[in-house]
Amino acid sequence: MGKFAEADAEISNTMICRRCKTRNKKGILKCRKCGSPYLRPKNKEIKAKKA
Ligand SMILES: [Zn+2]
Repeated sequence: MGKFAEADAEISNTMICRRCKTRNKKGILKCRKCGSPYLRPKNKEIKAKKA
């Protein structure tokens, strides 16, 4: 509910490479930079989980 709604949406659609920390689009299987399959979601709402 704020001016950061778009940014939040973008964050929720971002995956971070565990190896090189490159941002990748969600749904990608491998890091576009280093090819590592080890990606994690960039999630700022771990505590306040909303559906
Ligand atoms: Zn990477």
